Amino acid sequence: MTSFQDFGLAEPIAHALRDVNYVTPTPIQSQTIPLALSGRDIIGIAQTGTGKTASFALPILHHLLASRIKPQAKTCRVLVLSPTRELSGQILDSFNAYGRHIRLTSALAIGGVPMGRQVRSIMPGVEVLVATPGRLLDLVQSNALKLTQVEFLVLDEADRMLDMGFINDIRKIVAKLPIRRQTLFFSATMPKDIAELAAAMLRDPARVAVTPVASTAERICQRVIQVDHSAKLAFLTELLKQEPIDRALVFTRTKHGADKVVKNLAKAGIAANAIHGNKSQNNRERVLAAFRLGKIRTLVATDIAARGIDVDGISHVINFDLPNVPETYVHRIGRTARAGAAGTAISLVAGADELGYLRDIERLIRIPLPREDHRTDAGRNAAPAPSQHRRGHQTPRPQGARQTDDQNPEKRSRRRRPRGKIKSSPTDRPERRRAHGAAPPDGIQDVAFLRRDSRPDGRAKRNRYSH
Ligand code: AMP
Repeated sequence: MTSFQDFGLAEPIAHALRDVNYVTPTPIQSQTIPLALSGRDIIGIAQTGTGKTASFALPILHHLLASRIKPQAKTCRVLVLSPTRELSGQILDSFNAYGRHIRLTSALAIGGVPMGRQVRSIMPGVEVLVATPGRLLDLVQSNALKLTQVEFLVLDEADRMLDMGFINDIRKIVAKLPIRRQTLFFSATMPKDIAELAAAMLRDPARVAVTPVASTAERICQRVIQVDHSAKLAFLTELLKQEPIDRALVFTRTKHGADKVVKNLAKAGIAANAIHGNKSQNNRERVLAAFRLGKIRTLVATDIAARGIDVDGISHVINFDLPNVPETYVHRIGRTARAGAAGTAISLVAGADELGYLRDIERLIRIPLPREDHRTDAGRNAAPAPSQHRRGHQTPRPQGARQTDDQNPEKRSRRRRPRGKIKSSPTDRPERRRAHGAAPPDGIQDVAFLRRDSRPDGRAKRNRYSH
């Protein structure tokens, strides 16, 4: 399909697309929309930035319009599950933008904010509910929500949900849904455990796929700077001073690390802000808005907090800490070089562990990364740990157990969350240490990553985090 007109979407939806200036469908949209319109279940392999949200939102809105009924109290017709509150907010914004001419009723159910307003917002029943799994279950368990009327289920970023330990929650939610429904399942990677989850949830699904993770990496100028641990902060400061940076996203492994980096940059006269799960929702929203507007040039984030945030014009992604899951590296650097823009990713690599992570990354992206060596003799003498060996020593987490804290092993023992209680921010949960086997899926097509300029103006309005 080369034009949105070819899909035969209902006029109010086509009108909204004209409003937001979408003319040509992206590859994932061309593949997914006709299948979803025909009522098929779908298993889609695509990352954020490919236009994936519209690929499920548009056909669902079309179906809603075709049989418009008032939802019953405390129910929803469409349930979208997403791993983080930021991504959930963005998905809801997209539904509201594409549904702007149909008076769509919608609500958000995310953790980390009081439940009262969410309970009230779903009381009369809504057409679209976007939720993180933990909060959704809390609402169901407190009888504020019934899932008996769900006609459409979307599971977005399934691999990330699994990483975050949401698998049992998802199974519980799916068990409460009507069997007769349409399910659209999206994941950036398709390791075995995700394929099994999909098989259990989907009926004769059609497969659609764009971009193997590796191809994202090819378009970005990647630098690796080997340094001593103790020199990382000084190097980061220098980089931020010397590089022609429009907007930089700096990744740290832990929340504490993010705060430490911000503090040290401040001492060197560089303004930066941190975004992670310990910050209040309001604070994160404010910081992100300022980053989007270019008022903040340097944002320091943990992976989970940064997930799902799309900001245009990030010229540099800096890995202050290298992630121990190679796919995370690809997700991180994919924040730059969008829509054909230039982008640079710089990784500060120190010590044997990070050299091991680097090798895992190079294996995944199939590109040897040129290294600039600024280590002292002491730093150089640290031998790289063999990667298989490292992985082999990881203690497997029982399937479905939610991970509890930063990857910092010291903290993990001290700050374990009790199970079965209302979860705090899902954005704050760390990724799993074990990497998925991310073999590029079959049927991969080339993909364009899109800018967010075309995102409609009204995106941050009434529904945003208000429910
Ligand atoms: P997503 O992958 O769904 O997060 O979308 C990435 C960005 O691309 C968002 O800013 C969308 O508003 C934008 N977008 C999605 N589809 C199109 C399209 N067909 N044409 C132009 N922009 C689009």
